[in-house]
Amino acid sequence: MPPPRKAAVARTEEARALERARDLPNARTALDVDALRRAFADHLQYSQGKDEHTATPLDRYFAVAYAVRDRMMRRWIQTQQTYYKADAKRVYYLSLEFLMGKALENNLLNLGIYDNMRSALSDLGLDLNALLEQEPDAGLGNGGLGRLAACFLDSLATLSIPAYGYGIRYEFGIFDQEIRNGYQVERPEEWLRFGSAWEIPRGDACVPVSFYGRTEHGVDEKGRLQVRWADARHVLGMPYDVPITGHGNQTVNTLRLWRARASQELDLADFNAGDYLSAVEEKDLSENISKVLYPNDLTVMGKELRLQQQYFFVCCSIHDIVNRHLKMHEGFSDFPDKVAIQMNDTHPAIAVAELMRVLVDEHGLEWGKAWEICGGTFGYTNHTLMPEALEKWSVDLFGRVLPRHLEIVFEVNRRFLDGVRAARKADEPALQRMSLIEEGPVKQVRMANLAVIGSHSVNGVAALHTELLKRELFHDFHALWPERFNNKTNGVTPRRWLLQANPALARSISEVIGPGWVTDAAQLRNLEPLAEDAGFRRLFRDVKRDNKERLAGIVRVENGISLDLDSIFDVQVKRIHEYKRQLLAILRVASEYLRLKEERGYDPYPRSYLFGGKAAPGYAMAKWIIKLVGSVADVVNRDVDVRGRIAVAFLRNYRVSLAERIFPAAEVSEQISTAGKEASGTGNMKFALNGALTVGTLDGANVEIREEVGAENFFLFGLTVEEVAALRKGGYDPWEWYRKDRRIKQVLDALSSGVFSPGEPGLFRPVVESLLNGGDPYLVLADFAAYCSCQERVEQAYRDPDGWTRKAILNVARAGKFSSDRTIHEYATEIWNVPPVRVVE
Ligand SMILES: *Cc1c(COP(=O)(O)O)cnc(C)c1O
Repeated sequence: MPPPRKAAVARTEEARALERARDLPNARTALDVDALRRAFADHLQYSQGKDEHTATPLDRYFAVAYAVRDRMMRRWIQTQQTYYKADAKRVYYLSLEFLMGKALENNLLNLGIYDNMRSALSDLGLDLNALLEQEPDAGLGNGGLGRLAACFLDSLATLSIPAYGYGIRYEFGIFDQEIRNGYQVERPEEWLRFGSAWEIPRGDACVPVSFYGRTEHGVDEKGRLQVRWADARHVLGMPYDVPITGHGNQTVNTLRLWRARASQELDLADFNAGDYLSAVEEKDLSENISKVLYPNDLTVMGKELRLQQQYFFVCCSIHDIVNRHLKMHEGFSDFPDKVAIQMNDTHPAIAVAELMRVLVDEHGLEWGKAWEICGGTFGYTNHTLMPEALEKWSVDLFGRVLPRHLEIVFEVNRRFLDGVRAARKADEPALQRMSLIEEGPVKQVRMANLAVIGSHSVNGVAALHTELLKRELFHDFHALWPERFNNKTNGVTPRRWLLQANPALARSISEVIGPGWVTDAAQLRNLEPLAEDAGFRRLFRDVKRDNKERLAGIVRVENGISLDLDSIFDVQVKRIHEYKRQLLAILRVASEYLRLKEERGYDPYPRSYLFGGKAAPGYAMAKWIIKLVGSVADVVNRDVDVRGRIAVAFLRNYRVSLAERIFPAAEVSEQISTAGKEASGTGNMKFALNGALTVGTLDGANVEIREEVGAENFFLFGLTVEEVAALRKGGYDPWEWYRKDRRIKQVLDALSSGVFSPGEPGLFRPVVESLLNGGDPYLVLADFAAYCSCQERVEQAYRDPDGWTRKAILNVARAGKFSSDRTIHEYATEIWNVPPVRVVE
């Protein structure tokens, strides 16, 4: 037997010594109240360098956060060791966005130490809630897509699945929205100004990334074609690891976010020898890559920096994944058995070409073998059918930034088209539609097609959306590979969106059905009988009222409006987009106002209409809609004639932490997109889970929410996908609706004549124009009458408090399907084939 190597011996001794040290009876990371208080005191002193006289609320927040983080470290290491020892198959979730929000409260709840920490602090005269407020939101996403990724991380850890999130550590996340004179103003949100308690930089795991340059084709010593990427510019990716706790288990997974750093030795020394200042300038340029999240929601812009961001994080992540694999495995034959990579939309689709490049150019695999490995590894989730949201890069730009990847895309495309042609599986027009290259005045690379061709699984995010994907957007691919397509209806984590956001309701639920629902949301069904229990209904109503009061407090401070707590809280919060039809909602509110002014006897049930959401900075119509909501609010709220009947407020800076205050207080959930446009929606699920009743179209996951909660507990209105298509086909003329519907004419005339813009009569002409002469592309006018009569049904239902509360309770009881735990379980079993790996202490 050969003598053990010196390093190995040292490693073993270190491990034993560490083991002994950790096994000492040690209160340092204990979970009891005393240990937590001690940890807080220590961190205030040793990490923040403060005492009770000098400590700010932020210092105290950090002291709590570090005390909590300490309690995650052992589990984090244990989790990684467990995966390593089990040689577990891993899931890698690649997403350009992770809309995480705050982490502290979530971690306290997941570790089961929320109450102990609150006691520990209250003994010191400190209020945990006030400290939780100090944490800035990690807003590394635009909206639904980024929040989905965050919910998925929570569920992956809770289901004990060996998983990693990969993304970008943006210095500036989604902008902070201010409202000036009713208009949206964007301000940079410096979430890292005071540092983050949750990230750990891993300077030892940097990855070099190349851009630009050219390719050199040669042959290696065995006569095989070899391609070299020459004269490239280099950037380093530095990982920042964020621990992701599971709920009620020992799992702590990793979210690895990449930061772009200048590559000191590669560029600065070579290029700028002797020119220190321009060397530092150059450094700035490469570090721009991870500077800012692109705020565009849906409409894509072919910006060079955005392509750089995509390749940057994909290159770093693929490098990391391959490295981890090669630590335990010879070569790549079992790669798809050990690695599943899920692409959140097409933003990471360049990963298909990058893995090919790594396998073929760097590891010498034969093309066919490498392609098989790619197909076995990748899955692609589509998030939209809207053509303007489909990512395309001009061939020129793509080839300049990523010369080798363009060659790979061409070769993938050639082989794909040749194969399909040879098998006579599609005709020429279909081949043109499926091609990775769109011909035309500007040739473009179609990222969605690359994602489909390079994956073994393509999924939509709600049943209806997946059907439309198969029928329309990916019709040709579906004809070719029907088995590749599947549905994974979105979900949201019940930990954040019920347990954390609505503690009073969560407590009431647990008291009657036990706490099992927290990790098994199907158990919420056990609440159904409670809908008939008058005592529980009273409790439920009291909780809702308290939540309304809390939200009203925010509205009072932010908007200077006092909401009537007996009024219906009717809420539409989501990104502002024409297809989501905030315009439909605000036009109806304006119309209600006009009716109240005109009809003496009109006596609607009092309602408070709450809106919130960000508009992409370059999206003019979305910004007009914000201004319109604010203007209607001003006119309505100031008019004593309608006081006590309607109130309107636009809540500025809609974000995760504000959402956590809004959903629990909502009674009516506005999910009114044009049928066929909202892929799934997840806001709709958060509302239902908190007992708001949906006013909705048959779109996205609304369809499934209605199926689950029951048609009698859902307010349906509007054109269906088929009716929308038929109406368009017959030549939709919005003027017709204007002429025949008195309420439409009245409200549009009022808008045009300046009723809602005193002093600026022509202000809202662009809005009216887009409806009447712009063709009303989202059919606002066509659905207006149906929407109004639906809202009358809402009002009637609300006038029966017991009936309403019954419906609300049934919404909560039947929302279990929309837990992201269910979604992730389906991904794990049907796409990734990754079993859970339990971490034991
Ligand atoms: C859930 C959520 C969204 C998505 O809302 P939709 O109504 O599904 O568009 C967007 N932003 C935030 C902050 C969210 O919490």
